[in-house]
Amino acid sequence: MEIGILRRDGRTDPFFDGTAADRLVIRRCEPCDRWYAPDQGACPECGSEDLAWADAEGTATLVTWTVAHGRGTEPATLALVELAEGPWLHARLDGLDPADLREGLPLRATFVHPDEGESYVLFKGA
Ligand SMILES: [Zn+2]
Repeated sequence: MEIGILRRDGRTDPFFDGTAADRLVIRRCEPCDRWYAPDQGACPECGSEDLAWADAEGTATLVTWTVAHGRGTEPATLALVELAEGPWLHARLDGLDPADLREGLPLRATFVHPDEGESYVLFKGA
């Protein structure tokens, strides 16, 4: 399965500015000291719609995954990972044998800078 060319949509610009600079930037509610995924609109704790953007560590653990076989392309492992800060993120895995995958596997973020479209994040074995 191809991820396709990523285009920014205005709401997630800081996330893509981050990936372009090899940084994983996610949402954070400072008053609640809680972290959220980049597409989170408001803090469910306090209702604030004024979430900050802040750098995540870039470490995560594997929650679940599926291997997608596209026609004429390399199989891609699509995963749901839990960041060290708590939010869950959908991302592809890179350089990991599907046979070695297990829940809780430690991962770290790595960044891809395609010729066209936005940079994006993959996760490798830590
Ligand atoms: Zn909050």
